[in-house]
Amino acid sequence: VIGLGTFVPPVAQGVPATGGAVAEVRSALLTAIHERYRSNPRSRQTAVGPSQVGHPCGRNLAFLASGHPRSEQYNDPWPSILGTAAHAWLAETLEQYPTIWITERRVHVGGGMSGSGDAFHIPTGTVVDFKVLGNTTFTQLRNEDPASAYWFTGGGQTYRTQLQCYGTGFVNAGFQVRHVTLAVLGRAKRLSDLYMVPWEYDPAVSQRALARLQAARTLASAGVHPMAVPAQPGHCHFCPFKGSESDGLCEAGNN
Ligand code: SF4
Repeated sequence: VIGLGTFVPPVAQGVPATGGAVAEVRSALLTAIHERYRSNPRSRQTAVGPSQVGHPCGRNLAFLASGHPRSEQYNDPWPSILGTAAHAWLAETLEQYPTIWITERRVHVGGGMSGSGDAFHIPTGTVVDFKVLGNTTFTQLRNEDPASAYWFTGGGQTYRTQLQCYGTGFVNAGFQVRHVTLAVLGRAKRLSDLYMVPWEYDPAVSQRALARLQAARTLASAGVHPMAVPAQPGHCHFCPFKGSESDGLCEAGNN
C-alpha cells in the first residue's frame, strides 16, 4: 500500500528516493517514460534531418551521415519530451486557425532530406520554428541580435540552418516563403517572454547545408570513419557522439 500521506523530500539527481513503496513508484515512472520515449519514431530517427544538418562540427555531421550508434552518455530524454509535448500543444492550438496557420507540415528540403515544419503563417509568408529552451540557452539567444555572428558562424547556426531548410521545404511544397523566424519559449519562463528571432528567407543557406550533407554522405559511403574528419569542438554539449575514442566516439568534446 502506498502511503500517499507520507511526505518524501525531493532527492538529488540520481539518488533513489526512500520511504515505503516510493522507490518502486519512482522506478515504475521512469520505466514508463523511457519506454514511451524509446518507442517514439523521432527518438529512433536515423536519417539526417534539418535540425541536425547545420551543426558547425563536420565530424558530428559525418557521424550522423554514417549512421554510427549514439553514445550512451546522451540518454536523458526529458528536455526532448517537454519540447515534443509543447510542440503538440502549440500545433493543436494553431490548427484552430486554418486560414492563418499551417502546422506540422511534412516538407522535402532536397537531397532526400525531409522534416516536419512547425508552422507557416500564411498572411506574411513566414515559416516559424518553435524552440522550448532551458534558462541558459534562452538567455543566450535573447542576447544575440539576429544579425550577429552567433547565428552565422557560431552556435546559433544549427537553428538558423534548420529554419532556412524548412523555408526551402515550404517553397518546394508550393508556398511563397518570405521570412523565417524562431519563436523561442523558455521551459521556466513566462509566456510573455516569447522571443522571436527573424530573418529573410535565404535559399542559399539550405543549398549549402545540402552540399555539406552530401559531402558527409560521400565520405561515409567511401568507408571513412567519422573520427578521420576534422572536429570543431565548442558546440559539443548535446553531441550524441561525445565519448571514449575506444568506443569509436569523439573525445574532443570532453572538456
Ligand atoms: S563531441 Fe564535439 S568535436 Fe566531437 S563530434 Fe561532437 S560536436 Fe564534434
